[in-house]
Amino acid sequence: MRIFDPHIHMTSRTTDDYERMAAAGITAIVEPAFWLGQPRSSVGSFTDYFDSLVGWEPFRASQFGVRHHATIALNPKEANDPRCREVLALLPRYLEKDGVVAVGEVGYDSMTPEEDEVFAAQLALAIEHELPALVHTPHRDKARGTERTLAVVAESGIDPGRVVVDHLNEVTVGLVRDSGCWLAFSIYPDTKMSPPRMVKILQEYGLERMLVNSAADWGRSDPLLTRTTADAMLAAGFSEDDVDLVLWRNPVEFYGQSGRLDLSDVEAKEATFAGNSILRGGS
Ligand SMILES: [Zn+2]
Repeated sequence: MRIFDPHIHMTSRTTDDYERMAAAGITAIVEPAFWLGQPRSSVGSFTDYFDSLVGWEPFRASQFGVRHHATIALNPKEANDPRCREVLALLPRYLEKDGVVAVGEVGYDSMTPEEDEVFAAQLALAIEHELPALVHTPHRDKARGTERTLAVVAESGIDPGRVVVDHLNEVTVGLVRDSGCWLAFSIYPDTKMSPPRMVKILQEYGLERMLVNSAADWGRSDPLLTRTTADAMLAAGFSEDDVDLVLWRNPVEFYGQSGRLDLSDVEAKEATFAGNSILRGGS
């Protein structure tokens, strides 16, 4: 089984996690830029963080046979801090880097006017740099936040097929389904979404434009929950090809729109270890 986790914050995870992920078949990941828990007090802190997302972290992942790409943005929470606003001027430089496959995470935290402005500015950057966009939806007031998100996406003029709206649940899945955007779900141990609930959503809404991630970070989270969801899909009667579609081909198709997704290493390795049959219907 090959798994691509399209949203995981490896900066906050240990090498033990990389080892366990590789053993579970998670050999490709995308790490979106987000906040650091402790608020950043200057733009320099972003520069160092972005450099590590395109330099150090891909190197660390490669030692465990995991291919690492990143998305770069000013996150919604820190969009509210005037000390961080200058980051917007830094972004174009990072959005041209090889390992950067989208603008993200952008979107809403508390739905303030500052967040409106920064969200719209970053969707414009995605269009300008011909990159897809990864959009975070707020954890409070989720339905209203998702509706407002979709309105801003529509207004921006970006092709909805190049936008993924993340952290969805049973309340918001239908809204996004009709928008033409991609749908992503963060599987957590206690909150947000669980593997059994995810399987029910896939049964009801189908597999097209669906992404499943662990969003693992410093909070209570589990970097193996993509694999657990894949196993739950099989147990519920989905085929291995269905699992491959949701947990590999879908994220490859979405981030592949950047023209920068390079999976040659991991795909060559899989072909060597498992025979070419594993790549059937592949990217
Ligand atoms: Zn995240």
